[in-house]
Amino acid sequence: MTLLGIDVSERAVLVVGGGPVAAWRARSLADDGADVLVVAPHLCDDLEKLRDAGAVRWRAGEVVEADLAGVWLVHTATGHARVDEAVSAWAAERRIWCVNASDASQGTARTPATTQVGDVLVGVVSTGEPDPGRSKRIRDHFAGELREGRVSLRRERAGASGGRVVLVGGGPGDVDLLTIGGRRALAEADVVVTDRLGPTGVLAELDPGVEVIHVGKAPGNHPVPQDEINRILVERAQRGQVVVRLKGGDSYIFGRGGEEVLACRKAGIPVEVVPGVSSALAVPTLAGISLTYRAVAQTLVVTTGHEGLDPAARAAVGHEGATLVVLMGVSLLRRIAGEAIESGADPSTPVAIVERGSTPTQRATYGRLDTIADRAEAAGVRAPAVIVIGAVAADGFLGPTPPDDTITG
Ligand code: SAH
Repeated sequence: MTLLGIDVSERAVLVVGGGPVAAWRARSLADDGADVLVVAPHLCDDLEKLRDAGAVRWRAGEVVEADLAGVWLVHTATGHARVDEAVSAWAAERRIWCVNASDASQGTARTPATTQVGDVLVGVVSTGEPDPGRSKRIRDHFAGELREGRVSLRRERAGASGGRVVLVGGGPGDVDLLTIGGRRALAEADVVVTDRLGPTGVLAELDPGVEVIHVGKAPGNHPVPQDEINRILVERAQRGQVVVRLKGGDSYIFGRGGEEVLACRKAGIPVEVVPGVSSALAVPTLAGISLTYRAVAQTLVVTTGHEGLDPAARAAVGHEGATLVVLMGVSLLRRIAGEAIESGADPSTPVAIVERGSTPTQRATYGRLDTIADRAEAAGVRAPAVIVIGAVAADGFLGPTPPDDTITG
Protein backbone atom coordinates (compact mmCIF):
# COMPACT_ATOMS: atom_id res chain seq x y z
CA MET A 1 0.00 0.00 0.00
CA THR A 2 1.17 3.49 -0.73
CA LEU A 3 -0.19 6.88 0.26
CA LEU A 4 -0.63 9.36 -2.57
CA GLY A 5 -1.91 12.90 -2.68
CA ILE A 6 -4.19 12.81 -5.70
CA ASP A 7 -5.67 15.90 -7.26
CA VAL A 8 -9.36 15.29 -7.90
CA SER A 9 -10.25 18.81 -8.94
CA GLU A 10 -12.51 18.86 -11.98
CA ARG A 11 -11.99 15.12 -12.40
CA ALA A 12 -14.96 12.78 -12.70
CA VAL A 13 -15.55 10.75 -9.54
CA LEU A 14 -18.38 8.27 -9.06
CA VAL A 15 -20.01 7.84 -5.67
CA VAL A 16 -22.37 4.87 -5.50
CA GLY A 17 -24.97 4.96 -2.74
CA GLY A 18 -27.49 7.45 -1.34
CA GLY A 19 -26.91 7.21 2.41
CA PRO A 20 -24.94 9.17 4.99
CA VAL A 21 -21.59 7.47 4.24
CA ALA A 22 -21.94 8.30 0.57
CA ALA A 23 -23.00 11.83 1.53
CA TRP A 24 -19.96 12.34 3.69
CA ARG A 25 -17.60 11.16 0.94
CA ALA A 26 -19.42 13.05 -1.80
CA ARG A 27 -19.19 16.24 0.23
CA SER A 28 -15.49 15.95 0.88
CA LEU A 29 -14.74 15.10 -2.77
CA ALA A 30 -16.89 18.02 -3.92
CA ASP A 31 -15.09 20.31 -1.44
CA ASP A 32 -11.84 19.23 -3.05
CA GLY A 33 -13.24 20.30 -6.42
CA ALA A 34 -14.12 16.90 -7.89
CA ASP A 35 -16.86 16.52 -10.50
CA VAL A 36 -19.00 14.12 -8.45
CA LEU A 37 -21.74 11.91 -9.88
CA VAL A 38 -23.88 10.12 -7.29
CA VAL A 39 -25.74 7.03 -8.46
CA ALA A 40 -28.48 5.75 -6.14
CA PRO A 41 -32.21 5.07 -6.26
CA HIS A 42 -32.83 7.57 -3.42
CA LEU A 43 -30.87 10.33 -1.73
CA CYS A 44 -30.67 11.02 2.01
CA ASP A 45 -31.29 14.60 3.17
CA ASP A 46 -27.61 15.54 3.13
CA LEU A 47 -27.14 14.31 -0.43
CA GLU A 48 -30.31 16.12 -1.53
CA LYS A 49 -28.86 19.32 -0.10
CA LEU A 50 -25.59 18.77 -1.95
CA ARG A 51 -27.47 18.13 -5.18
CA ASP A 52 -29.68 21.20 -4.66
CA ALA A 53 -26.57 23.29 -4.02
CA GLY A 54 -25.09 22.07 -7.33
CA ALA A 55 -22.15 20.41 -5.55
CA VAL A 56 -22.92 16.93 -6.96
CA ARG A 57 -24.92 15.48 -9.86
CA TRP A 58 -27.37 12.62 -9.32
CA ARG A 59 -28.43 9.75 -11.53
CA ALA A 60 -31.46 8.05 -9.99
CA GLY A 61 -31.43 4.26 -10.19
CA GLU A 62 -29.39 1.16 -9.48
CA VAL A 63 -25.72 1.35 -10.43
CA VAL A 64 -24.73 -0.22 -13.78
CA GLU A 65 -21.29 -0.89 -15.20
CA ALA A 66 -21.67 1.97 -17.69
CA ASP A 67 -21.68 4.44 -14.77
CA LEU A 68 -17.94 3.84 -14.44
CA ALA A 69 -17.20 5.10 -17.94
CA GLY A 70 -14.65 7.90 -17.92
CA VAL A 71 -14.27 8.22 -14.14
CA TRP A 72 -10.93 8.49 -12.33
CA LEU A 73 -12.06 7.18 -8.99
CA VAL A 74 -15.01 5.22 -7.59
CA HIS A 75 -16.35 5.24 -4.08
CA THR A 76 -18.98 2.65 -3.36
CA ALA A 77 -21.04 2.91 -0.17
CA THR A 78 -24.42 1.38 -0.88
CA GLY A 79 -24.67 -0.49 2.41
CA HIS A 80 -25.15 -3.72 0.40
CA ALA A 81 -21.96 -5.75 0.42
CA ARG A 82 -22.88 -7.54 -2.82
CA VAL A 83 -23.49 -4.34 -4.74
CA ASP A 84 -20.28 -2.78 -3.39
CA GLU A 85 -18.40 -5.93 -4.34
CA ALA A 86 -19.78 -5.82 -7.88
CA VAL A 87 -18.83 -2.16 -8.27
CA SER A 88 -15.32 -2.93 -6.95
CA ALA A 89 -14.98 -5.75 -9.47
CA TRP A 90 -16.07 -3.53 -12.40
CA ALA A 91 -13.60 -0.89 -11.24
CA ALA A 92 -10.76 -3.42 -11.03
CA GLU A 93 -11.45 -4.62 -14.56
CA ARG A 94 -11.27 -1.08 -15.81
CA ARG A 95 -8.20 -0.25 -13.67
CA ILE A 96 -10.01 2.48 -11.79
CA TRP A 97 -9.08 2.95 -8.13
CA CYS A 98 -12.03 2.02 -5.92
CA VAL A 99 -12.81 2.60 -2.24
CA ASN A 100 -15.25 0.03 -0.91
CA ALA A 101 -17.02 1.32 2.19
CA SER A 102 -18.55 -2.09 2.99
CA ASP A 103 -15.13 -3.67 3.27
CA ALA A 104 -12.14 -1.37 2.92
CA SER A 105 -9.83 -4.37 2.57
CA GLN A 106 -11.64 -5.36 -0.65
CA GLY A 107 -11.15 -2.01 -2.37
CA THR A 108 -8.03 -0.94 -4.26
CA ALA A 109 -7.91 2.36 -2.35
CA ARG A 110 -8.64 3.49 1.20
CA THR A 111 -9.84 6.83 2.44
CA PRO A 112 -7.44 8.27 4.99
CA ALA A 113 -8.51 10.13 8.08
CA THR A 114 -7.25 13.63 7.24
CA THR A 115 -6.55 16.95 8.83
CA GLN A 116 -5.54 20.13 7.05
CA VAL A 117 -3.70 23.10 8.54
CA GLY A 118 -2.89 25.80 6.02
CA ASP A 119 -1.57 24.04 2.93
CA VAL A 120 -0.45 20.94 4.83
CA LEU A 121 -2.70 17.90 4.53
CA VAL A 122 -2.02 14.96 6.85
CA GLY A 123 -3.62 11.60 6.06
CA VAL A 124 -3.66 8.42 8.15
CA VAL A 125 -4.54 4.97 6.81
CA SER A 126 -3.96 1.52 8.12
CA THR A 127 -2.10 -0.81 5.78
CA GLY A 128 -3.37 -3.89 7.62
CA GLU A 129 -6.87 -4.59 8.90
CA PRO A 130 -8.87 -1.42 8.37
CA ASP A 131 -9.49 0.34 11.71
CA PRO A 132 -11.01 3.77 11.08
CA GLY A 133 -11.38 4.58 14.79
CA ARG A 134 -7.66 4.11 15.35
CA SER A 135 -6.77 6.13 12.26
CA LYS A 136 -8.98 8.99 13.48
CA ARG A 137 -7.38 8.92 16.91
CA ILE A 138 -3.92 9.19 15.36
CA ARG A 139 -5.17 11.91 13.00
CA ASP A 140 -6.59 13.87 15.97
CA HIS A 141 -3.22 13.73 17.68
CA PHE A 142 -1.46 15.30 14.69
CA ALA A 143 -4.30 17.77 14.18
CA GLY A 144 -3.75 19.00 17.75
CA GLU A 145 0.01 19.27 17.36
CA LEU A 146 -0.37 21.28 14.17
CA ARG A 147 -3.23 23.46 15.37
CA GLU A 148 -1.38 24.38 18.55
CA GLY A 149 1.79 25.29 16.69
CA ARG A 150 3.93 22.55 18.23
CA VAL A 151 5.34 21.56 14.86
CA SER A 152 7.19 24.10 12.75
CA LEU A 153 5.23 24.74 9.54
CA ARG A 154 7.90 27.03 8.16
CA ARG A 155 8.59 26.38 4.48
CA GLU A 156 12.03 25.02 3.63
CA ARG A 157 11.68 26.20 0.07
CA ALA A 158 10.71 29.77 -0.66
CA GLY A 159 7.08 29.60 -1.71
CA ALA A 160 5.89 31.06 -4.96
CA SER A 161 2.91 32.44 -3.06
CA GLY A 162 3.64 35.88 -1.67
CA GLY A 163 4.75 36.83 1.79
CA ARG A 164 2.43 38.07 4.47
CA VAL A 165 2.40 39.65 7.88
CA VAL A 166 0.64 38.37 11.00
CA LEU A 167 0.40 40.64 14.03
CA VAL A 168 0.31 38.39 17.09
CA GLY A 169 -0.80 39.78 20.42
CA GLY A 170 1.36 37.79 22.83
CA GLY A 171 -0.21 38.65 26.18
CA PRO A 172 1.62 40.22 29.14
CA GLY A 173 4.66 37.95 29.22
CA ASP A 174 3.92 34.43 30.42
CA VAL A 175 3.95 32.10 27.39
CA ASP A 176 0.88 30.39 28.84
CA LEU A 177 -1.08 33.54 27.98
CA LEU A 178 -0.17 33.38 24.29
CA THR A 179 -3.17 32.08 22.32
CA ILE A 180 -3.20 28.90 20.27
CA GLY A 181 -3.72 31.03 17.16
CA GLY A 182 -0.65 33.04 18.08
CA ARG A 183 1.41 29.90 18.52
CA ARG A 184 0.31 28.55 15.16
CA ALA A 185 1.27 31.80 13.46
CA LEU A 186 4.71 31.54 15.08
CA ALA A 187 5.04 27.96 13.80
CA GLU A 188 4.59 29.26 10.24
CA ALA A 189 6.97 32.22 10.58
CA ASP A 190 10.16 32.74 8.60
CA VAL A 191 10.96 35.83 10.60
CA VAL A 192 9.69 37.14 13.96
CA VAL A 193 9.86 40.86 14.66
CA THR A 194 9.55 41.14 18.42
CA ASP A 195 9.07 43.66 21.20
CA ARG A 196 10.71 43.67 24.59
CA LEU A 197 7.39 43.19 26.40
CA GLY A 198 5.40 40.07 25.73
CA PRO A 199 6.10 36.34 25.75
CA THR A 200 9.75 36.50 24.72
CA GLY A 201 10.26 33.05 26.28
CA VAL A 202 8.57 31.57 23.23
CA LEU A 203 11.43 32.74 21.00
CA ALA A 204 13.67 29.99 22.40
CA GLU A 205 11.16 27.39 21.20
CA LEU A 206 11.24 28.56 17.58
CA ASP A 207 12.75 26.44 14.85
CA PRO A 208 16.47 27.34 14.62
CA GLY A 209 15.99 28.56 11.06
CA VAL A 210 13.62 31.34 12.12
CA GLU A 211 15.19 34.80 12.10
CA VAL A 212 14.38 36.97 15.12
CA ILE A 213 14.57 40.77 14.87
CA HIS A 214 14.35 42.70 18.16
CA VAL A 215 12.73 46.10 17.80
CA GLY A 216 11.66 46.53 21.43
CA LYS A 217 11.19 49.90 22.96
CA ALA A 218 12.62 50.45 26.42
CA PRO A 219 11.15 53.41 28.38
CA GLY A 220 12.64 56.68 27.16
CA ASN A 221 14.54 54.84 24.47
CA HIS A 222 13.16 53.93 21.05
CA PRO A 223 15.80 51.72 19.45
CA VAL A 224 13.80 51.11 16.30
CA PRO A 225 11.43 53.91 15.26
CA GLN A 226 7.91 52.93 14.21
CA ASP A 227 8.48 53.86 10.56
CA GLU A 228 11.47 51.59 10.48
CA ILE A 229 9.45 48.71 12.01
CA ASN A 230 6.78 49.24 9.35
CA ARG A 231 9.46 49.21 6.68
CA ILE A 232 10.96 45.94 7.98
CA LEU A 233 7.57 44.22 7.98
CA VAL A 234 6.77 45.31 4.43
CA GLU A 235 10.22 44.61 3.05
CA ARG A 236 10.39 41.07 4.50
CA ALA A 237 6.92 40.21 3.24
CA GLN A 238 7.86 41.54 -0.19
CA ARG A 239 10.73 39.02 -0.18
CA GLY A 240 8.06 36.32 0.14
CA GLN A 241 8.57 35.66 3.84
CA VAL A 242 5.93 34.91 6.46
CA VAL A 243 6.49 37.66 9.00
CA VAL A 244 5.14 37.46 12.54
CA ARG A 245 5.06 40.72 14.43
CA LEU A 246 5.06 39.56 18.06
CA LYS A 247 3.81 42.20 20.47
CA GLY A 248 2.99 42.46 24.15
CA GLY A 249 -0.66 42.23 25.18
CA ASP A 250 -3.01 42.99 22.31
CA SER A 251 -1.65 44.69 19.21
CA TYR A 252 -4.50 47.21 19.06
CA ILE A 253 -4.38 48.30 22.72
CA PHE A 254 -1.68 50.97 22.89
CA GLY A 255 0.35 48.73 20.65
CA ARG A 256 0.56 50.73 17.41
CA GLY A 257 -0.70 47.64 15.60
CA GLY A 258 -3.10 49.78 13.59
CA GLU A 259 -0.23 51.72 12.04
CA GLU A 260 1.54 48.51 11.09
CA VAL A 261 -1.60 47.10 9.49
CA LEU A 262 -2.10 50.29 7.45
CA ALA A 263 1.54 50.27 6.33
CA CYS A 264 1.12 46.68 5.08
CA ARG A 265 -2.16 47.43 3.33
CA LYS A 266 -0.67 50.46 1.66
CA ALA A 267 2.09 48.25 0.28
CA GLY A 268 -0.43 45.62 -0.83
CA ILE A 269 0.83 43.05 1.70
CA PRO A 270 -1.75 40.60 3.11
CA VAL A 271 -1.94 41.17 6.85
CA GLU A 272 -3.94 39.56 9.64
CA VAL A 273 -4.20 40.22 13.34
CA VAL A 274 -4.37 37.54 16.04
CA PRO A 275 -5.83 39.14 19.18
CA GLY A 276 -3.89 38.94 22.40
CA VAL A 277 -4.61 39.05 26.11
CA SER A 278 -4.09 42.69 27.02
CA SER A 279 -2.08 43.52 30.13
CA ALA A 280 -4.77 46.10 30.91
CA LEU A 281 -7.14 43.25 31.75
CA ALA A 282 -4.91 40.29 32.55
CA VAL A 283 -2.40 41.89 34.90
CA PRO A 284 -5.00 43.15 37.42
CA THR A 285 -6.69 39.72 37.30
CA LEU A 286 -3.36 38.02 38.01
CA ALA A 287 -2.93 40.30 41.02
CA GLY A 288 -6.36 39.36 42.35
CA ILE A 289 -8.07 42.61 41.33
CA SER A 290 -11.54 42.18 39.86
CA LEU A 291 -11.83 45.30 37.72
CA THR A 292 -15.64 45.24 37.67
CA TYR A 293 -16.49 43.51 40.94
CA ARG A 294 -20.26 43.42 41.01
CA ALA A 295 -21.96 46.36 42.71
CA VAL A 296 -18.57 48.05 43.28
CA ALA A 297 -17.55 49.02 39.76
CA GLN A 298 -19.79 49.24 36.70
CA THR A 299 -17.48 51.16 34.42
CA LEU A 300 -13.96 50.40 33.31
CA VAL A 301 -11.80 52.99 31.62
CA VAL A 302 -8.39 52.15 30.19
CA THR A 303 -6.08 55.04 29.46
CA THR A 304 -2.45 55.88 28.88
CA GLY A 305 -0.59 57.84 31.53
CA HIS A 306 2.09 58.84 29.09
CA GLU A 307 1.05 62.52 29.28
CA GLY A 308 -0.95 62.55 32.50
CA LEU A 309 -4.72 62.08 32.62
CA ASP A 310 -6.80 63.34 29.71
CA PRO A 311 -10.30 64.81 30.22
CA ALA A 312 -12.06 61.47 29.63
CA ALA A 313 -9.94 59.72 32.25
CA ARG A 314 -10.39 62.61 34.69
CA ALA A 315 -14.17 62.44 34.25
CA ALA A 316 -14.14 58.72 35.06
CA VAL A 317 -11.79 58.79 38.03
CA GLY A 318 -13.96 61.19 40.01
CA HIS A 319 -16.89 58.75 39.92
CA GLU A 320 -17.67 56.06 42.42
CA GLY A 321 -18.40 52.93 40.43
CA ALA A 322 -15.65 53.52 37.89
CA THR A 323 -12.31 51.73 37.73
CA LEU A 324 -9.48 53.48 35.91
CA VAL A 325 -6.64 51.39 34.48
CA VAL A 326 -3.56 53.36 33.49
CA LEU A 327 -0.88 51.90 31.23
CA MET A 328 2.51 53.58 30.76
CA GLY A 329 1.88 55.66 33.85
CA VAL A 330 4.76 54.88 36.21
CA SER A 331 7.02 57.80 35.32
CA LEU A 332 4.20 60.34 35.78
CA LEU A 333 2.59 58.60 38.76
CA ARG A 334 2.78 61.59 41.10
CA ARG A 335 1.22 63.88 38.53
CA ILE A 336 -1.49 61.32 37.67
CA ALA A 337 -2.50 60.88 41.32
CA GLY A 338 -2.60 64.66 41.76
CA GLU A 339 -4.72 65.13 38.65
CA ALA A 340 -7.15 62.47 39.85
CA ILE A 341 -7.63 64.31 43.15
CA GLU A 342 -8.01 67.64 41.35
CA SER A 343 -10.69 66.03 39.21
CA GLY A 344 -12.80 65.27 42.28
CA ALA A 345 -11.61 61.80 43.30
CA ASP A 346 -11.46 61.20 47.04
CA PRO A 347 -7.79 61.32 48.14
CA SER A 348 -8.41 58.03 49.96
CA THR A 349 -9.35 56.22 46.72
CA PRO A 350 -7.41 52.93 46.58
CA VAL A 351 -4.61 52.54 44.04
CA ALA A 352 -2.72 49.38 43.13
CA ILE A 353 0.34 49.18 40.92
CA VAL A 354 1.20 45.80 39.45
CA GLU A 355 4.67 45.48 37.94
CA ARG A 356 5.81 42.78 35.51
CA GLY A 357 2.47 41.00 35.60
CA SER A 358 2.52 37.28 34.78
CA THR A 359 6.29 37.04 35.17
CA PRO A 360 8.08 35.37 38.11
CA THR A 361 8.88 38.84 39.51
CA GLN A 362 5.32 40.16 39.46
CA ARG A 363 4.80 42.54 42.38
CA ALA A 364 1.88 44.63 43.60
CA THR A 365 2.20 47.88 45.56
CA TYR A 366 -0.89 49.32 47.26
CA GLY A 367 -1.80 52.77 48.51
CA ARG A 368 -4.28 55.64 48.17
CA LEU A 369 -4.25 58.50 45.71
CA ASP A 370 -2.59 60.69 48.35
CA THR A 371 0.07 58.14 49.38
CA ILE A 372 0.80 56.02 46.33
CA ALA A 373 3.52 58.18 44.78
CA ASP A 374 5.61 58.09 47.96
CA ARG A 375 5.04 54.39 48.43
CA ALA A 376 5.95 53.60 44.85
CA GLU A 377 9.09 55.66 45.13
CA ALA A 378 10.07 53.91 48.35
CA ALA A 379 9.44 50.52 46.78
CA GLY A 380 11.33 51.42 43.61
CA VAL A 381 8.39 50.72 41.29
CA ARG A 382 9.39 50.56 37.61
CA ALA A 383 7.78 50.05 34.23
CA PRO A 384 6.19 47.93 32.93
CA ALA A 385 3.36 48.27 35.38
CA VAL A 386 -0.41 48.61 35.33
CA ILE A 387 -1.94 51.17 37.67
CA VAL A 388 -5.48 50.51 38.92
CA ILE A 389 -7.43 53.33 40.58
CA GLY A 390 -10.79 52.67 42.28
CA ALA A 391 -12.44 50.80 45.14
CA VAL A 392 -11.59 47.41 43.60
CA ALA A 393 -7.87 48.21 43.90
CA ALA A 394 -7.85 48.14 47.72
CA ASP A 395 -5.34 45.77 49.28
CA GLY A 396 -7.17 42.64 50.36
CA PHE A 397 -10.41 43.67 48.65
CA LEU A 398 -10.71 40.36 46.86
CA GLY A 399 -7.50 38.72 47.94
CA PRO A 400 -7.50 35.18 49.29
CA THR A 401 -10.86 35.54 51.06
CA PRO A 402 -13.67 37.28 49.18
CA PRO A 403 -15.53 40.13 50.87
CA ASP A 404 -18.84 38.22 50.58
CA ASP A 405 -19.66 34.54 50.89
CA THR A 406 -20.04 34.33 47.16
CA ILE A 407 -17.98 35.92 44.47
CA THR A 408 -20.31 37.37 41.91
CA GLY A 409 -17.93 39.84 40.30
N1 SAH B 1 -0.37 46.33 23.87
C1 SAH B 1 -0.04 46.17 25.26
C2 SAH B 1 0.24 47.49 25.92
C3 SAH B 1 1.42 48.21 25.35
S1 SAH B 1 1.78 49.69 26.19
C4 SAH B 1 -1.15 45.42 25.96
O1 SAH B 1 -2.25 45.26 25.41
O2 SAH B 1 -0.90 44.95 27.07
C5 SAH B 1 2.97 49.16 27.35
C6 SAH B 1 2.39 49.19 28.73
O3 SAH B 1 1.60 48.03 28.97
C7 SAH B 1 3.40 49.18 29.83
O4 SAH B 1 3.93 50.47 30.06
C8 SAH B 1 2.56 48.72 30.99
O5 SAH B 1 1.73 49.75 31.46
C9 SAH B 1 1.69 47.70 30.33
N2 SAH B 1 2.24 46.35 30.44
C10 SAH B 1 2.57 45.53 29.44
N3 SAH B 1 2.99 44.33 29.91
C11 SAH B 1 2.90 44.41 31.23
C12 SAH B 1 3.17 43.49 32.29
N4 SAH B 1 3.61 42.25 32.06
N5 SAH B 1 2.97 43.90 33.56
C13 SAH B 1 2.52 45.14 33.81
N6 SAH B 1 2.25 46.03 32.85
C14 SAH B 1 2.42 45.68 31.59
